[in-house]
Amino acid sequence: MDEISEQLLQLFATTATLIAIYDADDRLRYANAAFRSAYFIEPAETPVWPDLMRRNFGLRRGTVIHAENFAEWLRSTQSRRGKIGYRAFETDLVDGRWFWMTETVQKNGWMLCIASDITSLRARGRHVRQDRDQAIKDAQTDELTGVANRRFVMARVEDMLIAAQHGGEGCLALFDIDNFKYINDRLGHHAGDIVLRDFAHRIHQSVRRTDCFGRVGGEEFILVMPGTGSEEAIAIVERMLSVIRFSRPLPDSPDFSYTCSAGVAACLPTDSASDLYRRADQALYEAKLSGRDRVRAA
Ligand code: GH3
Ligand code: MG
Ligand code: MG
Repeated sequence: MDEISEQLLQLFATTATLIAIYDADDRLRYANAAFRSAYFIEPAETPVWPDLMRRNFGLRRGTVIHAENFAEWLRSTQSRRGKIGYRAFETDLVDGRWFWMTETVQKNGWMLCIASDITSLRARGRHVRQDRDQAIKDAQTDELTGVANRRFVMARVEDMLIAAQHGGEGCLALFDIDNFKYINDRLGHHAGDIVLRDFAHRIHQSVRRTDCFGRVGGEEFILVMPGTGSEEAIAIVERMLSVIRFSRPLPDSPDFSYTCSAGVAACLPTDSASDLYRRADQALYEAKLSGRDRVRAA
């Protein structure tokens, strides 16, 4: 290790500023003593972020989570976490401290978190600022399923296309639940809503942190996969479709299952969002025509 790295690590170890680094799988790879103490992490522990949050929520410590349902909070937060280059926000701990936290994400998905104690600063207006953050979150989240909404996920398509103009890879997948009208008509709109939530929750669980998944309309969803080539994208989507195939979401109809079709398109350097979307939609149409419950690439 060179002298600067060594000095940095020593300074990190003594500063009161919270410093942590997560890898692209959202596993904590480095945290200084201040960070570990604030979030109750043992010196050698390297938990993934959702597990860390869940554990602290269960023990009523760490981050204050303004939600009754942890899974819902996690889904909505995770749908947007680490998907843009930089984010800054106020966050409070159960012990009463307030922090100003910044998240900086590299192209390869590694993320630096730095948080400074602002308990004694700017206390006035804190609730207004939290309400504002909540309003931003609501404006980026789909109400029925809790995953990212059209506005947020389409902005990630634009980010991916900017990278593609500079030679980056990237794929867009369009999902459309099969025969959804029939599900609604036969089992009712409520069952249709349960299927939509089941679909979003199951897919969400296998979305990588560098990817972004969101609902763009009725029973249509998209997955944005920056830095991913067609073959890998198709393999990812195929795994997702098989997860859906095995789902039995309706307790009153235990034999009920459903499927989904998908179309994948790879970014071209000259693509606009609508060019890319159109190719993915064409591939989706081919998946439907050739029998549904499959993925086709443009
Ligand atoms: P295909 O396999 O070709 O996709 O057939 P489909 O029946 O899924 O296609 P279509 O697009 O005709 O049907 C979509 C239906 O989704 C129509 C609409 O009533 C229903 N829908 C849209 N939004 C919602 C929602 O929020 N909840 C429920 N329950 N149904 C919805
Ligand atoms: Mg449709
Ligand atoms: Mg459909």
